[in-house]
Amino acid sequence: MNSLCSLWSETAPIGPELHPFEPGSSADVIVVGGGITGLSAALHIAEQGGQSVSVLEAETPGWGTSGQAGGQVIAGLHAAPDDLSATFGDEMGERMLSFVGKAPDLVFQLIERYRIDCNPVRKGWIQTNRSVRGVRALQRDALMWAKRGAPVEMLDRAQIARLVGTQVYAGGWLDRRNGTVQPLAYTRGLAKAAIEAGAKIHGNVRVQKLTREGGRWRVTTNAGHLMGSVVLIATNAFTDGLVSRLRRSVLRVHGVQIATAPLPDRVRATILPQGQSCADNHILSVRYFRVEPDNRLVIGGPGWLTPPRNARALSFQILERSTRRMFPQIANIPFDYHWYGRGAMTADLLPHLHEPQPGIVAALGYNGRGIAAGTALGALLARRALGEPARDLPFPVTALSALPFNTAPAARYYLSIAADRLRHLFD
Ligand SMILES: Cc1cc2nc3c(=O)[nH]c(=O)nc-3n(C[C@H](O)[C@H](O)[C@H](O)COP(=O)(O)OP(=O)(O)OC[C@H]3O[C@@H](n4cnc5c(N)ncnc54)[C@H](O)[C@@H]3O)c2cc1C
Repeated sequence: MNSLCSLWSETAPIGPELHPFEPGSSADVIVVGGGITGLSAALHIAEQGGQSVSVLEAETPGWGTSGQAGGQVIAGLHAAPDDLSATFGDEMGERMLSFVGKAPDLVFQLIERYRIDCNPVRKGWIQTNRSVRGVRALQRDALMWAKRGAPVEMLDRAQIARLVGTQVYAGGWLDRRNGTVQPLAYTRGLAKAAIEAGAKIHGNVRVQKLTREGGRWRVTTNAGHLMGSVVLIATNAFTDGLVSRLRRSVLRVHGVQIATAPLPDRVRATILPQGQSCADNHILSVRYFRVEPDNRLVIGGPGWLTPPRNARALSFQILERSTRRMFPQIANIPFDYHWYGRGAMTADLLPHLHEPQPGIVAALGYNGRGIAAGTALGALLARRALGEPARDLPFPVTALSALPFNTAPAARYYLSIAADRLRHLFD
């Protein structure tokens, strides 16, 4: 089959009923974007009571990357823990680490509190590398987390082979804080929870313009306008020209995912038998995978700057080939699902919080780590919208800087993907 189809959209519960849009109305806080970030922000504002909040989503909640992602719930960022302190100072660095380290707790607590039906699994996440040198670097980062009390374990080649089910990795570590969710189901569950808590969510409403008017924001959409005191931008890789330079602060890239037919029990028993998920740490040519309750192996890898056209696109062919090479035991099992997601990369590989104008706050640039971090930064957007000073937040609000033509990250991305393609085509 050549057409693209996501396993998540086939298996997620349907989303909640949304509110009809009322042109000319107002809300204290207006959230642009109904993915994990925007919905978490709306939920946390609504939970506090006292402030009205409306989410404006151009499509439906979860339509964006949140509904297409790998679903790994990961503590931490693409930075060695000690490097955050070096970059942001000891105090802010440690506050950021504590904040992102606890982000999976927030995800799993929300799932429990709101009974979100999204197949949550919290059995840990294994990070691996193919080279001994790469493993050494990984384990150095893991020790930095261990120093801060995180429940991590180092794994040698034999342990990785037994826990993961492939011989290709030289070692890695296990982080027990982490887990997985069905990402579209989680996102729709957040939407339902936000509505139950009192937020309004409007679908098929695309924000086209933000204009300052009498100390408030006039939010112009394709369906009419809305007035609000604070606007939260949660559009990540779909960020458009609403705020000058925000779109060009991230590089938009695509990642592809595939899911096998259900594995026979004897094969399933050889891959991630203890229920962890796994990812290697080749940031730009990463492979990440897990096994679903119906025994499907779901694996993701890099795409390209433009989206793949169909299931026979080169990115999918390479991912299929490399998956079969990693797991010879699935040699004859077909791939039933092929889909892709659009991600947003930043030059420093960290997510960013910006306040480009008074009363506008944006969170974006997750670099493939937005399920836990997006939930947590959504909660910070809520705190800021409710009046908490920026300096009190455990994540820095930084100046917005557009990447000039995105040259450096784009070049790095192209080169890395090209190398990955060559490696997998010819090895
Ligand atoms: C292939 C892939 C796999 C990934 N896997 C993982 C993973 O395993 N674990 C992990 O932690 N992270 C992962 N990520 C990253 C993670 O999925 C994202 O960082 C996260 O979902 C971003 O959520 P968001 O709410 O910020 O953005 P989105 O979910 O993209 O939501 C943004 C929304 O804004 C809407 N929008 C945009 N413009 C407007 C407008 N003008 N008006 C109204 N609405 C608008 C869009 O329609 C969209 O629905 C992955 C990313 C990719 C690309």
